[in-house]
Amino acid sequence: PTRGQPVLEVRGLTRRFGGLVANKDIDLTLHAGEILAVIGPNGAGKSTLFNQLSCVDHPTSGEVKFLGQSVLGWQPRRMAAAGLSRTFQHVKLLPSMSVLDNVAIGAHLRGRAGLLRSALRLDRAEEARLLGEAQRQLERVGLGALSHVEAGSLALGQQRLVEIARALCADPSVLLLDEPAAGLRLQEKQALAELLRKLRAEGIAVLLVEHDMDFVMNLVDRVAVMVFGEKITEGLPAEVQSHPKVLEAYLGV
Ligand code: ADP
Ligand code: MG
Repeated sequence: PTRGQPVLEVRGLTRRFGGLVANKDIDLTLHAGEILAVIGPNGAGKSTLFNQLSCVDHPTSGEVKFLGQSVLGWQPRRMAAAGLSRTFQHVKLLPSMSVLDNVAIGAHLRGRAGLLRSALRLDRAEEARLLGEAQRQLERVGLGALSHVEAGSLALGQQRLVEIARALCADPSVLLLDEPAAGLRLQEKQALAELLRKLRAEGIAVLLVEHDMDFVMNLVDRVAVMVFGEKITEGLPAEVQSHPKVLEAYLGV
C-alpha cells in the first residue's frame, strides 16, 4: 500500500457479549504510514476492537476491510499471511527459550507451514531461513545482540520489543499493538516510541491501543477515543486532548 491509502476500514462494527455491548457501531480508518491510537478507560472495548481487526474474534454486525477486502470469516493466520500482525496486551513469550527462538517460532506460526508440521519436523533449510528472518527482525528493533539470551531474563521493555520483532516477521503492512507501553519505564517508552516512528517512516501503518496519554500524545498522528464501547471522538492529539467528552471520561470533569 502507498502512504495515505486506507489499509483497515471499520464500518458499523458492533460486538455484543450477551447483554453487554463491548463495541457499538464503530467506524474507523487506518491509513498506510500513520500511527493511530485508540485510547479509553479500562473496559471501553479497545482489546475487543483489536480482536475483531485481527480476526481473533468476529463482530456481531458491521464490517472490517483489510486492503479493500472484507475479512468476514477469516482466521488470524490468514490475516497475518495477508500482512496484518498484532501483539497482545499481556506478554506471551516462552521465558526459558532464547529470544531468537521466540521470534523464529512466531515467524513460523505466521508463515504458510502449519503448527503440526512444526511439531513434527522442520527441514534444515526452512529452519535456517526462519532463524535468519528472526535475527533480522531483532536487529530491526535494536535487540540483535541479545538473540541468544533467555527471553525471561529480559526487562519488560525489551520483552515488548521481542514481541514486536516477532510480529514484524513476514513483513506486515499493518501492526496492531495492544498497550505496548504499559508497565514500561520512561526510558523504555522512549525506545519504543523511537522504534514506532522508524516503522512509520518505513511505511507501516501502526494502530495502538493505549492507556498512557503522555506516551500517545507525543507519538501518534491521530487519536480515536472509546468510552463504554463507543468511539466518542477522533482527531489530532491536541484536538482530542481538550475535547470536553475526553476530559469527562478521563478526569470526570
Ligand atoms: P479494554 O481493552 O478497553 O479494557 P475490553 O475490550 O477488554 O476493554 O472489554 C470491553 C468489555 O467487554 C468489558 O466489559 C469486558 O468485560 C467485556 N468482554 C471482553 N471480552 C469478553 C468476552 N470474551 N466475553 C464477555 N465479555 C467480554
Ligand atoms: Mg484491553
